[in-house]
Amino acid sequence: MAQEEPNRFVEWFHLLRGQVPVVRQHLKDWVEAVREEPALIWQTTAVRYAVYGLGAVVLLWGASQVAGTIAPPATVRPQAKTADFHVVCTNPDCRHHFVIHREFGYREFPVDCPKCQKRTGAQARRCNSATCRGRWVPLERQDGKLYCPVCGAQFE
Ligand SMILES: [Zn+2]
Ligand SMILES: [Zn+2]
Repeated sequence: MAQEEPNRFVEWFHLLRGQVPVVRQHLKDWVEAVREEPALIWQTTAVRYAVYGLGAVVLLWGASQVAGTIAPPATVRPQAKTADFHVVCTNPDCRHHFVIHREFGYREFPVDCPKCQKRTGAQARRCNSATCRGRWVPLERQDGKLYCPVCGAQFE
């Protein structure tokens, strides 16, 4: 059983090698004929079907592209395009710290605070200064730089 495959392969190889001079001669004759009569390219069945095949592939590809834009297949899972954003409420009576889930690069702060119901949720980050020691603080922007409003440390 295991012996069969290599033998068949050798047979094919010999068969193919035997065909090479014949094919080469055919090709040479064809190239000669085409050189004299260029319209022969289109009259050659193999060439014509290759072009038809290529056209069909392009059409199918185009159709699949169009179908993809209308209804993306369910098997294609969207890549992770969202992230968690820490938010600290800047309302002095609230200071609620919460996390929202939004697309990457989300910048539309302030957001609604779920605790005091005011639109005072500012984007937050951890301040690791000696004063704040990892406290979540709302970001404060001055001259394009970000500062901690609690201790005044500058974030890079
Ligand atoms: Zn609040
Ligand atoms: Zn700080």
